[in-house]
Amino acid sequence: MKCPFCNHIETKVIDSRDTNDNKTIRRRRECEKCQARFSTYEQIEVLNRVVIKRDESKEAYNREKLEKSIKLATNKRIKGSDLRQLMDEVEAEINCDGKAEIISKKIGNIVLNNLKKRDQVAYLRFASVFKSFGSGKRFVKELNKIEKTN
Ligand SMILES: [Zn+2]
Repeated sequence: MKCPFCNHIETKVIDSRDTNDNKTIRRRRECEKCQARFSTYEQIEVLNRVVIKRDESKEAYNREKLEKSIKLATNKRIKGSDLRQLMDEVEAEINCDGKAEIISKKIGNIVLNNLKKRDQVAYLRFASVFKSFGSGKRFVKELNKIEKTN
């Protein structure tokens, strides 16, 4: 963890404790160079979540993989800090679900709902991949639906 004051790379943890909601850990750090003190907050990751795929096979949830597929499907319209923010919202919703297993379709729908609020074109691109619109007709129909709601 870099020191926010002098950018020195080595900082040591001098205290860590759970916050009130028990979902975040607060760490008090001290820079080894300038001795400045600062806090970091670590969120609990979406761990141990098993994703059930369309063919009913199972795999461990993987944030990077989901990020990559969103980036790819939206033709990089969603990337960088936008993508990170989107992923945080998506993961918060996955966590809300609270079950050990989640169906991949459900994750896809959560992504879709969040994209819809953010970027209509990205939404449509992701939808066309996720829902695998077989025909141009279906794509146009979805596009019309979006235009109507705007
Ligand atoms: Zn420092």
